[in-house]
Amino acid sequence: MSLTDEIAVRRTFAIISHPDAGKTTLTEKFLLYGGALQLAGSVTARKNQRAATSDWMELERKRGISVSSTVLQFDYDGFKVNLLDTPGHKDFSEDTYRVLTAVDAVVMVIDAGKGIESQTRKLFEICRRRGVPIFTFMNKIDRPTKDLLGLLDELESVLGIKAYPVNWPLGTGQDFKGVYDRQAKKVHLFERSAGGTGRAGLTMHELTDAEVEEALSPSAYATSMDELEMLEIAGAEYDNAAVMSGNLTPVYFGSAVNNFGVQLLLDGFLSHSTPPRPRNAGSRSVDPADPAFSGFVFKIQANMDPRHRDRIAFIRVCSGKFSREMGVTHVQTGKRVRLNSSHKLFGRERETVDEAYAGDVIGIVGHAEFGIGDTLTEDPSIVYNEIPRFPPEVFAYIHSSSSSQYKRFRDGLDQLMQEGVIQMLEVKGSVRREPLLAAVGPLQFEVVQYRLQSEYGAESRLEGASWSIMRWVDPSMSIEQIEATLPTGAALALDTRKQPVLLFPSEWAMGYFLRQNKDVILSDVPVDA
Ligand code: GDP
Repeated sequence: MSLTDEIAVRRTFAIISHPDAGKTTLTEKFLLYGGALQLAGSVTARKNQRAATSDWMELERKRGISVSSTVLQFDYDGFKVNLLDTPGHKDFSEDTYRVLTAVDAVVMVIDAGKGIESQTRKLFEICRRRGVPIFTFMNKIDRPTKDLLGLLDELESVLGIKAYPVNWPLGTGQDFKGVYDRQAKKVHLFERSAGGTGRAGLTMHELTDAEVEEALSPSAYATSMDELEMLEIAGAEYDNAAVMSGNLTPVYFGSAVNNFGVQLLLDGFLSHSTPPRPRNAGSRSVDPADPAFSGFVFKIQANMDPRHRDRIAFIRVCSGKFSREMGVTHVQTGKRVRLNSSHKLFGRERETVDEAYAGDVIGIVGHAEFGIGDTLTEDPSIVYNEIPRFPPEVFAYIHSSSSSQYKRFRDGLDQLMQEGVIQMLEVKGSVRREPLLAAVGPLQFEVVQYRLQSEYGAESRLEGASWSIMRWVDPSMSIEQIEATLPTGAALALDTRKQPVLLFPSEWAMGYFLRQNKDVILSDVPVDA
């Protein structure tokens, strides 16, 4: 296949949702439809019994949270699908953000009984800022739902995105019998299969067929017909350009656990979504069909598997063709590197990858010099934009519990910093020698302590610090002047890249400082980003 043909069949996306909306279940069903049958089931299995996979997966198991992201690649209906998994817990939103920089579209799963929840909203905002197409799956239609038209309204009023229902449920809860495909003008009636392990059986009908009316209770049938009529009169039109720019979301209804509506979602998503798009690198836009290979690191993970204590950099390919053993430039150091240990990762399985194209994700083992956001390319004039960091909201000093473990403690911390698990600050003028950790949420501290202990044999102790706000300072400001006017309780510090930041104990303290220093500009993202 030619380079353009390879690009045209690739779809790279992530599923975003509030915890418990059904992301894991939907992922599993996608794999089932993608023919990765032996692996469908392994996703929920991973969630339930992450036995002996890796040490931090043990932590995930204990806490019932997903800390890590995996990449699932499968073929479906001529498409090469890359599904990037994102951690659901809000404390790992920075990690999620990085994954979202590597996708071309997202599927947003909403629990139709609950509507839009806090984490959905946060993740949605991130996607919108990046202008990626967003497809919506209203899940759990087999249970009592909120008013269906009201759910569409919520998308508009809470998220501010227009909604186009591609299909519409016929009945909800116990009465959920099928969906009407508004584009093909066909009814799909579902047959429940035991446990939802196989593909759901379905029969196709016209809306006016007697079978459709008979399948539903009279009141459910009447409601569905009324709703469909309302949509025809008052609903938005399907507009592909608006979907591509993230201003209109195609909405699909179904029940992931029962396999209802999953195939319609997958088919619709793959055909309406976009192949890899050009990507910004400074003032330049790099086309996926540019013959020079380029990609960027969006995630680094060490010690994923206790059997290979190694470090993997996950690279999203953005242009050209990757081939194993190729020599590329790591633009951040200017060094030429050979990408020989390249893997495709399916969950925790590794397979050597010989070639990859825009949209694919490859894992490169080794290379301690690679950092988050770094560019690898055959054309060193391509430098992808830095991935922004999040402003931390919780701070703590970390102490090594024993001086005999101090070296391991430092080595472990250095590795975790490189992976971007957490941020570390150096407080100016402080007599304290312990590192100050800065996190978006407290579970990040727990991950650091857990990994220090299990991977490096270093016990540690945390000591909370009372700041709650961090802001980056315009580096052109006079540090001396800023230091002289800091209110009590505030501090000046340097981040890992030695950029100045200010730490405040409260909004009030920050407001006071800003009133005293009208010319100072503070930013919640690094100023160069
Ligand atoms: P995640 O936290 O978003 O990954 O959610 P899960 O996929 O783990 O699902 C959370 C719970 O909702 C699990 O108990 C699922 O079995 C259940 N669930 C998922 N989809 C459906 C659905 O369509 N209907 C019903 N009734 N339950 C579902």
